Amino acid sequence: MSRAAIVIHGGAGAIARASLSAEKERLYIEALSDIVASGQAILAQDGSALDAVTEAVRLLEECPLFNAGKGAVFTHQGTHELDACVMDGRSLEAGAVAGVRQVRNPVLVARAVLEKSPHVLFIGEGAERFAVEQGFAPVPPDFFSTPERYEQLQRALKMQQTMLDHDGAAQASDDPLDPDRKFGTVGAVALDRHGNLAAATSTGGMTNKQAGRVGDSPIVGAGCYANNANVAVSCTGSGEVFMRTLAAYDIAALMEYGGLSLKQASERVVMEKISVLGGSGGVIAIDREGNIALPFNSEGMYRGFGYVGDAPNVGIYREE
Ligand code: ASP
Repeated sequence: MSRAAIVIHGGAGAIARASLSAEKERLYIEALSDIVASGQAILAQDGSALDAVTEAVRLLEECPLFNAGKGAVFTHQGTHELDACVMDGRSLEAGAVAGVRQVRNPVLVARAVLEKSPHVLFIGEGAERFAVEQGFAPVPPDFFSTPERYEQLQRALKMQQTMLDHDGAAQASDDPLDPDRKFGTVGAVALDRHGNLAAATSTGGMTNKQAGRVGDSPIVGAGCYANNANVAVSCTGSGEVFMRTLAAYDIAALMEYGGLSLKQASERVVMEKISVLGGSGGVIAIDREGNIALPFNSEGMYRGFGYVGDAPNVGIYREE
């Protein structure tokens, strides 16, 4: 019997320079703790790692604090395009969708792709059609919009860049991590009692990205990967760099072929390989023994984990 556990993230980024509101920080901590607890409850009832990560990411998508599902960022063209991926470490089956505009919970459609389709990745219209065929009612394209994300787009348009790590315009939010310099992807990885690993990642992408741009999140091996032989990983950060380094798979490969521990492999990828290419962000990972790693090279990462039977452990900043 393995020591079951779930790990989640809600994006990595820079600490807000605006005075932090204790109230907003509390909201993030509460949301992260509640979602870890939901994942722990599934695992405690002998639910699978796949069920635990799917539900945790669905809850993160539903929470407007995070840039996935409701509260997703705007593209340059003023639309929302969402990406998600789910992978089952038991069978190496995966399902993903990219560039969907009317899917309320992209992670659930990714799961349907995994279970009901011979394909791995659906994009755009084909993904929307598949979702409807599977019984997911479409939501209006402005379902995902929030005033905060719209203002963020306006600032990005003014700065003429994608909102990632520019110096930051004045921002009204008092979020602990600066929404203008934060990667808002969400993700979860889990190990169940039977030794199965699973990973899920979901995102609205990056503010002011060009319509049609797809990042690492829905790409198997880049932003999401799970293999019972070694590890489950979900990433958040500069998508293009995570794609070029195949970050999630690279952690698995360093463990499998290089004999590195989870800690060594995940730190090598995040602190060296990603950083050298100018990328920023982080990963969450759990190995088949139940070891957990949450390295990030940004100033903070919304994150949490919990072994079954323990209280959830959550953090935002470094060294907590
Ligand atoms: N990695 C995501 C992307 O490039 C962004 C994020 O992590 O927030 O689409």
